[in-house]
Amino acid sequence: MIELYRCSVRSENQVLTVMNEVKGRKGKVVIVSGPSGVGKSTICKEVVKRLDNVYLSVSVTTRPKSENEVDGDDYWFISEQEFQERIDKRLLLEHAEVFGHLYGTPKDKVEEALQSGRTVILEIDVQGAKQAKVIFPDAIMIFILPPSAKVLAERIDHRGREDTEDAEERLDEAGTEIAAAWQYYKHMVINEDLQQAVSECVQIIESASSES
Ligand code: 5GP
Repeated sequence: MIELYRCSVRSENQVLTVMNEVKGRKGKVVIVSGPSGVGKSTICKEVVKRLDNVYLSVSVTTRPKSENEVDGDDYWFISEQEFQERIDKRLLLEHAEVFGHLYGTPKDKVEEALQSGRTVILEIDVQGAKQAKVIFPDAIMIFILPPSAKVLAERIDHRGREDTEDAEERLDEAGTEIAAAWQYYKHMVINEDLQQAVSECVQIIESASSES
């Protein structure tokens, strides 16, 4: 069933439709990606606390909710059928299958935030980032790196959210994502020290915003 939804790149028409719908926007878009377990969500939440007028997009996903997650806060947890309906109704800005589950960015909230001049942060994977970059060519692209493969493995393990097989898959995928990242992301931030990584992201966003 999941094969039906597999999508890494949208058709030109789909992209044009989304572009038309979000035109007239005033705010900036920031795309934050990085391997699973690198600490992207924590960094993004901290960045939002440090900057004014920022909206952190909440994605929809078909992944099961883990114990510590809150529906509507971390993600909107929905069924595959609901996800497909959102694709059909063109309610998603971008979407991708990641680790066997579907993830997507709701278009309406992003549109609303951009039109009111807010900076929008999208914490999405590399496939989604490629789609979003077509819609927002001037997006600020940040990729978060772990200090080492060993540290990343430990973080995924300590998080304890995945079983061993899933954790291994996430670790294997990290190498591929990092290799792809050098082509697409202008800014690379190493998350060795959380506060420092947050400060670097804040600096990148502030200086990119003042350039335009
Ligand atoms: P996790 O299951 O660890 O929360 O997320 C798995 C991956 O999906 C992460 O790389 C995360 O950035 C990505 N992701 C989360 N939301 C979205 C989204 O809306 N679109 C895309 N393309 N990827 C997402």
